[in-house]
Amino acid sequence: MPQDPNCIFCKIVAGQIPSKKAYEDAELLGFHDIHPWAPAHVLIIPKEHIATHYDVGPEHEALLGRMLGLAPRLMRELGVVNGFRTLINTGPDGRQEVPHLHMHVMGGPRPWARG
Ligand code: 5GP
Ligand code: ZN
Repeated sequence: MPQDPNCIFCKIVAGQIPSKKAYEDAELLGFHDIHPWAPAHVLIIPKEHIATHYDVGPEHEALLGRMLGLAPRLMRELGVVNGFRTLINTGPDGRQEVPHLHMHVMGGPRPWARG
């Protein structure tokens, strides 16, 4: 599976940087954002290093579908039953800070810090 040794999220996948995991399977990892905007704020990432949403091709469509399908399941597991927001930031104008594809999933009672 392609990894980038300098990538912070690849290091989280490898267990070299600790994270609070919410979900894991062979292809995907879900973990709590270190600076949550909302009472529940999870990042869902592919374990494979894909830098941005621009870098996906037809071979990734099932993976992307699984990321979306996982979001409501994780929110329910975290007790979020009144709605949530999903967000993928892409590239500089999309304000993507970590260059490893990730989907923010945020929920819980408002007010939120951001979003
Ligand atoms: P972006 O702006 O790239 O869409 O979001 C990156 C997110 O990753 C930010 O919300 C930031 O708080 C989170 N993040 C950055 N480094 C770490 C880390 O080492 N651990 C965790 N759990 N989250 C991180
Ligand atoms: Zn990576």
